[in-house]
Amino acid sequence: MSPTCIVVTGASRGIGAAIAARLAQAGSSVACLSRSGDLPSTLGMLNDGAAGRLLALACDVTRPGAMLAALDDIQARGLQIAGLVNNAGIHLQEPSATASLQHYEAVMTANATSVLLGCQAVYPYLAARGNGLIVNIGSFFDKLGVKHNLAYCASKAAVGAISRCLAVEWAGAGIGVVNVAPGYIETDLNHQALTQGPLRDYLDKRIPARRPGTADEVARLVAALFTLGIPFLTGETIYLDGAQGIAH
Ligand code: NDP
Repeated sequence: MSPTCIVVTGASRGIGAAIAARLAQAGSSVACLSRSGDLPSTLGMLNDGAAGRLLALACDVTRPGAMLAALDDIQARGLQIAGLVNNAGIHLQEPSATASLQHYEAVMTANATSVLLGCQAVYPYLAARGNGLIVNIGSFFDKLGVKHNLAYCASKAAVGAISRCLAVEWAGAGIGVVNVAPGYIETDLNHQALTQGPLRDYLDKRIPARRPGTADEVARLVAALFTLGIPFLTGETIYLDGAQGIAH
């Protein structure tokens, strides 16, 4: 039987690279998609066995048909697609009174439409197996009102709604859909802003855990969802935010 493979979008760096590493360490083959097609930045921390289970492919998830082509490619390499992590996303800010339609559509396309396209593309593979898991990476901004973040918040609320609708529609096909919604997560790109200066002071007061989360914490949760296999857990949004989103 061909080895099973989990597809991770936006896997070249940040949270996606951490997810790819944890899944490979847990024994899965991982197809790592990004526009650059680079191997995950976490590659250096993996042993040879786990590193050998990573396959990097260029795929812009905002382009209709791109995911279909990537999945065809993965299957043609003899891998059996068993799951998907829709992680790729962008964060742009604009004052809402003057934000352009172009800004709104760019964020919605990258963060929400891409999730729908990814789920639709993987559906026939998972339905044919009679089981499978899709994890979408949302954000705790899905339930907050954040200045200058209207498009981002709307896009992440849409990820929650897409996850719920597909979970209901596809449960009969044995496919689970879970939305993992992180709070502030430290990555290479935002390390400086989150660890020193005014944002850090603000977050110290706002996050009950008094620190941002790490990409590896998100990755451990996502890997656990795949390795534990809990089919009855579907349609839910799991927040991973140090209790910030529920703090008064
Ligand atoms: P990064 O900017 O660090 O990484 C984004 C990844 O997505 C890169 O691998 C990038 O690679 C890829 N990517 C971007 N656009 C596309 C595209 N159109 N097609 C394919 N790949 C793409 O982001 P984070 O790791 O911070 O965020 C990952 C996810 O987590 C996002 O959905 C984000 O909204 C969410 N999130 C992040 C939080 C945080 O604090 N960091 C908090 C809550 C949620 P390339 O440029 O090569 O395409």
